[in-house]
Amino acid sequence: MATSDAVAENCNVEQQRSALIFLGTGCSSAVPNALCLIKPSDPPCQVCSQALSVPPEENPNYRCNTSLLIDYCKSDGGHKYILIDVGKTFREQVLRWFTLYKIPQVDSIILSHEHADAVLGLDDVRVVQPYSSTNDIDPTPIYLTQLSMDSIAMKFPYLVNLKLKAGQEIRRVAQFDWKIVENDSKRPFVASGLEIIPLPVMHGEDYVCLGFLFGENCRVAYISDVSRILPTTQHYISKDSDRQLDLLIIDTLYKKGSHNTHFCFPQTLDAVKKLCPKRALLIGMTHEFDHHKDNLFLIEWSKREGISVQLAHDGLKIPVDL
Ligand SMILES: [Zn+2]
Ligand SMILES: [Zn+2]
Repeated sequence: MATSDAVAENCNVEQQRSALIFLGTGCSSAVPNALCLIKPSDPPCQVCSQALSVPPEENPNYRCNTSLLIDYCKSDGGHKYILIDVGKTFREQVLRWFTLYKIPQVDSIILSHEHADAVLGLDDVRVVQPYSSTNDIDPTPIYLTQLSMDSIAMKFPYLVNLKLKAGQEIRRVAQFDWKIVENDSKRPFVASGLEIIPLPVMHGEDYVCLGFLFGENCRVAYISDVSRILPTTQHYISKDSDRQLDLLIIDTLYKKGSHNTHFCFPQTLDAVKKLCPKRALLIGMTHEFDHHKDNLFLIEWSKREGISVQLAHDGLKIPVDL
């Protein structure tokens, strides 16, 4: 087979597979941390100052808000694009990764919770929707809990209450079909043909956030914001009590110590050991994490513990059979 044919063949195989695209792997304030650049410490922060000389596409320490795009290849070969979370940096993520990976649209959206770094890009969803000055388009299904719905109705009333008042001009806004889901793993839902099992986790002791479990063949759990994994959720994703996960994607905020609303590195690694997936990728990192340095540490850790763990980075694409 000629080389170009082999490449084309490879492309065809790739096109017939599902994939996960990490649109963002950073904390709420994203990385670089603006303060490290406008008011540098002495010595300056190595991770953030890299952003001044290395372009984002070559810099794995450039991290937008956590978000995952599931490129779901259905049995008929058609692709559906399912977006988890739409944070403050959503438009930048579209410009960088939708263009690189030729993503033409978003077919459905899933929200983990209603914090700024998960929802403040909702206004910009119109940039991936067909243009209509009269908003005459099919709304994008969006799955969220009632708590998130109530919060979004306050943050974005114009995206929720579409009825115009007498004399009010029509203005183009993103169109959503709001679908309420439960904080309950026994109540799965289907987004663009893919079954999703909600995984309630504590994100601070006063707050429940959703992780998601999906994939019949390759079993993937995505948990972006967590300070404690509830026993019911652990039951669904732990090797001891259920099928071993093929991939665990999980929160880690700071390198050392602990935090009231997020796992930090020590708690994340403890959770990985306890859940024992085949592979884990970490997301939600602050500027304390240096991609290359910490991944070298993790290679050693992985050898020792027998579980492959690495920091993910923005733009990472992993083929999976869902
Ligand atoms: Zn920094
Ligand atoms: Zn949060």
